[in-house]
Amino acid sequence: MPKIAVIGGGIVGSTAAYYLSQKPDVRLTLFDDDQGQATKAAAGIICPWFSKRRNKAWYRLSNRGAHFYPELLADMAKHGLSSKAYEKKTTWIVKNKAKTADDLIEIAKKRQVEAPLIQKIAKLTPQQIRDKVPQAQTQATVIVTDAGAIVDGQALCQDLQTLLQAQEGEIIRERAQIEAITDNSLTINDRKFDAAILAVGAWLPELLQPHGYNVDVRLQKGQLAVYQDQSSSQDLPLIMLDGEGDIIPHHHGQIFIGASHEDDMGFDLTADPSVLAAIEKAAADFLPAIENRQAAEIKVGTRAYTSDYAPFFGQLADHPHIAVASGLGSSGLTSGPLIGKELAQLISGQPTEMTLADYDVNRYVTKQ
Ligand SMILES: Cc1cc2nc3c(=O)[nH]c(=O)nc-3n(C[C@H](O)[C@H](O)[C@H](O)COP(=O)(O)OP(=O)(O)OC[C@H]3O[C@@H](n4cnc5c(N)ncnc54)[C@H](O)[C@@H]3O)c2cc1C
Repeated sequence: MPKIAVIGGGIVGSTAAYYLSQKPDVRLTLFDDDQGQATKAAAGIICPWFSKRRNKAWYRLSNRGAHFYPELLADMAKHGLSSKAYEKKTTWIVKNKAKTADDLIEIAKKRQVEAPLIQKIAKLTPQQIRDKVPQAQTQATVIVTDAGAIVDGQALCQDLQTLLQAQEGEIIRERAQIEAITDNSLTINDRKFDAAILAVGAWLPELLQPHGYNVDVRLQKGQLAVYQDQSSSQDLPLIMLDGEGDIIPHHHGQIFIGASHEDDMGFDLTADPSVLAAIEKAAADFLPAIENRQAAEIKVGTRAYTSDYAPFFGQLADHPHIAVASGLGSSGLTSGPLIGKELAQLISGQPTEMTLADYDVNRYVTKQ
């Protein structure tokens, strides 16, 4: 029975490990040291359809990733756990310029053909905005859609890990080091495996560099503020503000405001509320009470970006028994579960659904 290791228990690694644990012919070990995980700090927005980003491969992955969530949830329910980590949510997209809003509506309507999750796209009148959020003071144009969702990344990983343990998958909560790689095996923390998935996000360079690989991944710090507000969190829609920052009302009474995008900070996980001040000011148009409140918590995580902002996943050219993923950037909670499932399929020799050449690892992971 092949022994497969997954290193990294964020959204990619937890999903990959969960799907591998369901395969009767696999012995699965997940390593995770839980350091600054992006997934745990993520805002949780699943809504890729109103982006002007031109990269078509990115859009295909994000659109399919968003549609994959209900399938993942159904698979998990079939295996005995009804996860509450994913919630469909009415979503507002706020644009200061009416023309930008109109352009986005046009883009999203074209995308509707291949996005059955989008049933509704409309513009709200000022009265409709106040009917839903009476305290709103915005002059901006607001688009409303029913397609969006909010995910609690941390809770989803926990649920996936509960299911993999129920299938006798093993979880080792320690830092993994690859000590040796041969043509058909690898040694991780003194244990031999037949194959591995490296789903370590921003940490891929340090895991692979000792084995002679260059990895095109840079780091970006992200912070968001968490406010406790049981009543508003139920009534508020998910509000994607113009520019940086969003209001994300999670179902357990927490409202997230963020997130920041800070380059050149390395793996710094220090909470710095001053960075969030501008985002909180913009959020106050919809949530004035926020301005005088103290955040209950600041979440901090490290995103991984490639030099052209494109994510990658697949097998290493010279070692196909090692599959990797990284560079998911600020939309990795959207594409992560799909990528995790694709990696599980790939490493166990089964067909994948995306065109792997579009996300070619070997453009970003090269031999020194
Ligand atoms: C503040 C913030 C807000 C975000 N908001 C959104 C959002 O709203 N929507 C969206 O789609 N995306 C969002 N993202 C992006 C998304 O969170 C990430 O792209 C995604 O979670 C990356 O998942 P991952 O599994 O690749 O990596 P990670 O979640 O970083 O997981 C990697 C794991 O590997 C572990 N690890 C690393 N090296 C080792 C080792 N050697 N041994 C053992 N374990 C190791 C780490 O400790 C970590 O637990 C946000 C990110 C941040 C930081």
